[in-house]
Amino acid sequence: MRGGLKVEPKQRRVGEARMDGSYPSLPVFCSQGRGKMAPTHVLRCCQRGLAWIPVIFIALVVCWSYYAYVVELCLFTIRSPIEKAIYLAVFHVSFIMFVWSYWKTIFTRPATPSKEFCLPKSEKEQYEKEQRPETQQEILKRVATSLPLYTRTGAGAIRYCDRCQVIKPDRCHHCSACDMCVLKMDHHCPWVNNCVGFSNYKFFILFLTYSLVYCLFIAASVLQYFIKFWTFWLNYTFKIEHKRLLLNGSIYSELPESHAKFHVLFLFFVAAMFCISILSLFTYHLWLVGKNRSTIEAFRAPVFRNGPDKNGFSLGFSKNIAQVFGDQKKYWLLPVFTSQGDGFSFPTRLVTVDPEQPTECFQPAGPDKGAVEGSAEQLTPLSESQNRLLGNDYHAEEDHKETDVLKTDESEAITISIESES
Ligand SMILES: [Zn+2]
Ligand SMILES: [Zn+2]
Repeated sequence: MRGGLKVEPKQRRVGEARMDGSYPSLPVFCSQGRGKMAPTHVLRCCQRGLAWIPVIFIALVVCWSYYAYVVELCLFTIRSPIEKAIYLAVFHVSFIMFVWSYWKTIFTRPATPSKEFCLPKSEKEQYEKEQRPETQQEILKRVATSLPLYTRTGAGAIRYCDRCQVIKPDRCHHCSACDMCVLKMDHHCPWVNNCVGFSNYKFFILFLTYSLVYCLFIAASVLQYFIKFWTFWLNYTFKIEHKRLLLNGSIYSELPESHAKFHVLFLFFVAAMFCISILSLFTYHLWLVGKNRSTIEAFRAPVFRNGPDKNGFSLGFSKNIAQVFGDQKKYWLLPVFTSQGDGFSFPTRLVTVDPEQPTECFQPAGPDKGAVEGSAEQLTPLSESQNRLLGNDYHAEEDHKETDVLKTDESEAITISIESES
């Protein structure tokens, strides 16, 4: 959200800023009369129904690819039993992993801000009555002092969603398609008809990984039959050596009727096409994971106390990977939730806290539902630095910008751990 201090109030409650800063026209539930609610509701239902079309399309393509590969290629075309068995085994492993991760990406509900981020009743009433943005900001600041917030709007204001009426946690954004605030929102993906964010980002990466593996394996194993069919088709079309082929049956012994030919030819085309289109998205998201950056943050850097910092959440390559995939490698390739943190607060590259040595300065860690047990180190924002951040004050240690690990007195247990970004 840009310029939150100036344009905050009533008219913006209709919708929230998009990534590009524009404001979509969301349905107005409060200001319209009953007569207009019904068509809006119907329209909304239609939109929800239509949003499933890309998912249904992908599901149909996957079902057809299963039939074409297993039945037409493996059962009807391939003669060698060993080749058939190997192809079927590898195909089914990649198919199961692909469908599993796709399913989890689609049906994992986006995580939303907890009640702690809602304004208490008295403050909410006060906020709604208040017309001046400056005073509204004061109310938000007062509530936000108890929350683990590091980021603000470009204008330095507390990030507040008027639509959901909630203070936005760090990295949280409002999705106009889902009409909700989504924790660590990455983007809204029409191909899964869901928001990709904190709760399903790992599943989304695995979905890209396994769809790439699935398409690559199909394309690679179908290639030789594709060439044989294609060569035969060319020969047949141009009637070159057609009679010889018919007589000695060398190709007919390997290549069956035309319907298998059709499926195998299209299987290769479709797999290759999906491979190319997924590859760039997959590479981009791997890069984002390595930088601990969401797609939104890649386009617009999060704003910290010192201004925008695109690497503000980056903790170094290996820790960035662990943030999404967890620190137990055996779970990395499985679509089960192992991402670190609770989605409300994220370690920044400025501060690392040792949980063994809590002091009164530190905000206790919130419910850590996603953290993998046995994690050696837990990263938590400092409440003191939050308060100072919110008060436009600077924490003494935040001026340390050296790439170093600095351990202060044991009782303080503050570790300044900054890894330089290459
Ligand atoms: Zn919202
Ligand atoms: Zn969404």
